[in-house]
Amino acid sequence: MKLTAYEVRKDEEENLRKYAQRCGVDELVITGEPLTGETLELAEGAAGVTTLGQSVINEDICRQLHQMGVTGYSTRSVGYNHVDLEAAKKYGIRVSNASYSPHGVAEYTVMMILMSLRKYKPALYRINVNDYSLDGLVGGELCEMTVGIIGTGKIGETVIRNLAGFGCRIYAYDIYEKEEVKKYAVYRDLDTIYKECDIISLHTPLMDSTYHMIDRDAVKKMKKGVILVNCARGELMDIEAVTRGVEDEKIGAVALDVFENENGIYHHDRRTEIIKNRDMAYLRQFPNVIMTQHMAFYTRQAVDSMVKCGVESLAAFARQQDYFCRLA
Ligand code: NAD
Repeated sequence: MKLTAYEVRKDEEENLRKYAQRCGVDELVITGEPLTGETLELAEGAAGVTTLGQSVINEDICRQLHQMGVTGYSTRSVGYNHVDLEAAKKYGIRVSNASYSPHGVAEYTVMMILMSLRKYKPALYRINVNDYSLDGLVGGELCEMTVGIIGTGKIGETVIRNLAGFGCRIYAYDIYEKEEVKKYAVYRDLDTIYKECDIISLHTPLMDSTYHMIDRDAVKKMKKGVILVNCARGELMDIEAVTRGVEDEKIGAVALDVFENENGIYHHDRRTEIIKNRDMAYLRQFPNVIMTQHMAFYTRQAVDSMVKCGVESLAAFARQQDYFCRLA
């Protein structure tokens, strides 16, 4: 059985080989490049291909994979908004995503909340230039805050459990309510979350219904000084509306691990290049805006699970078996 792995980072290689061997893969092709029309030939003769989120798996790619005899595709990420599931189904390609412990992203989210609340970015900048002043660095205490969690799936629920230890009031919103979440949080409608929360953190997938959910109207409803955190997908926020909110000082702080159109920028060293994402460059310069390069997931444990799911699912699909994180 041949498998082709695209967008492979150095830290994934050892695990890829380990799981490929365990699954009886006798040819494993590894490339750092995304799956595109140009790199498609590497999949010739493969039973399945795996990528990360920078490869756009659209109808055209599905059709070409099908013509090459590829019957399985796995994304080694939880998010799968870069995959056209309908097209995959149409061309008989089984699809899976990754499943890994929600703790890494949930802990990172709590860190982003605390860094914003305690103004860690300007404090860090100051100490690097021997400025030990306190002016403008006064923070708040989480125990007195109301935190709104939008999306109470695996990650949102874990954030809520983690936050429960801080003694803050927690409001939650999801299209499906979970009994377990109700032990720590109160489900409220979105408008109430916007109006009453001091901190709002997003944990929904990117879908048509969540695209730009944080828009001008949503920001208008929020409390002055609100802290917005997004460790889910950049496209959940209309960045123009968020930037305006920061300029108007309606928004007190923003912490983003993800950004709209981050593909091709995040996870690459672009120090000597011109980065053509004006929104990213402009928003980043505010002292109350923290941005990181889509790394909330990045723990040893998660990387191992992402590669494991990616390889095991393709091997199962090649043997006409099902896999627990099959999407199509
Ligand atoms: P999940 O599927 O377990 O949970 C998603 C939740 O969102 C579900 O409970 C669902 O009902 C809810 N939801 C769907 N549509 C909604 C809507 N319109 N309004 C409110 N809630 C809605 O997913 P998860 O594992 O918790 O991950 C959530 C998202 O986090 C992923 O889709 C991914 O995009 C993102 N993520 C980011 C990173 C990172 O490194 N920054 C890592 C992993 C996941």
